Amino acid sequence: MQRLTHEEILGWLRETRPAQLDQLFAQADQVRREHVGDAVHLRGLVEISNYCVRQCHYCGLRAARSTPRYRMNREEIVASAHKCVELGFGTLVIQAGEDFGIEAEWLAGVIRQIKAETPLAITLSLGERLLDELRLWREAGADRYLLRFETSDPALYTAIHPLRGAALSDRVELLREMRKMGYEIGSGVMAGIPGQTYEILARDIELFAELDLDMVGIGPFIAHPETPLGAPDVPTAGEAQVPSNELMVLKAVALTRLVCPEANLPATTALATINTVDGREHGLESGANVFMPILTPSPYRQMYQIYPGKACVDEDATQCNQCLRGRIQRLNRYVGEGQGGRRSGGGEAAFGNASQSAPATKARQQLSDELGQKESSQPAENALSQFVVLR
Ligand code: SAH
Repeated sequence: MQRLTHEEILGWLRETRPAQLDQLFAQADQVRREHVGDAVHLRGLVEISNYCVRQCHYCGLRAARSTPRYRMNREEIVASAHKCVELGFGTLVIQAGEDFGIEAEWLAGVIRQIKAETPLAITLSLGERLLDELRLWREAGADRYLLRFETSDPALYTAIHPLRGAALSDRVELLREMRKMGYEIGSGVMAGIPGQTYEILARDIELFAELDLDMVGIGPFIAHPETPLGAPDVPTAGEAQVPSNELMVLKAVALTRLVCPEANLPATTALATINTVDGREHGLESGANVFMPILTPSPYRQMYQIYPGKACVDEDATQCNQCLRGRIQRLNRYVGEGQGGRRSGGGEAAFGNASQSAPATKARQQLSDELGQKESSQPAENALSQFVVLR
């Protein structure tokens, strides 16, 4: 792991000079190549329910929002798993709102069936559930669990993620417990939630390293107009506020690659949403090594509205598959074989042919130029940062 001090991370997050940014992205790309290779793993995402008991201020699935709700049945979920195999993906990600209508025993049965009928790794992303339920699913065959801690700042966390009655909400503790159960653990944050300062985002990245996460998802916050944080007059942290733009996400992904070199990092759908043209490519060139194509069948995929305008919602899984494979090939990368877990085969670097894929230096140079210009209204207060990646 690369040791970056808090000040160095902070400096990079505030960096705006294209030449410096180019170094950061190049360094992240190199660390990515050395530690996880040129493979890009595809995880099929099936959003099995949009019911949610929570009132998260950022999320369009929040219980208070009046929107049509659905819950997929067993046959539909298993069919998605078979579709996942057919399309050549190694992992099925089962995601939902925090929906206790998804009964633990019932889901354990679905997991067992998928594990019996397919070679897929299974990742769950179902919010905060009881330890006994998490253990049951692990025993049924679930391999990984995604639970973003959303922010490492306790005050901001409580403000955007209200408690549910008297129940505790300690996502970091849950992640630690899941690791003990044998899950690979994934977490992450949104960049640019109102109230998120550069200090806080720097500490988020330090917490990724401290938890030694197996997977880290970082996307931009995208305001949903029917949520409290989507209101027009939401207070921000002023000068210290992290913007929710592409450059900020790419800087956070790159820094995460440096501090968590072995982790699987997706170029997220939210990133693709704010730059539909080549946001995903930029993610892959800044340290990411995973795509998560949506497998959720219509009409459910249109109903899983965490944020508005989600990329790829109007495509089907086959179209997404072709589109993503083309993007991977054009970057001289290749689609990862097998489950692509951190421990079970994230180590393609050992066998890979890094020499075949010429570093996309020119493209990356353009990337940091373009992005740097977009943000050049901000001060470049970070003279120290240029030395960090070089030492
Ligand atoms: N119910 C599960 C899955 C939530 S959706 C859970 O709570 O873990 C997955 C992720 O989408 C969330 O963790 C959050 O980081 C992200 N998300 C939610 N609302 C968003 C928004 N408005 N913009 C961008 N990302 C958002």
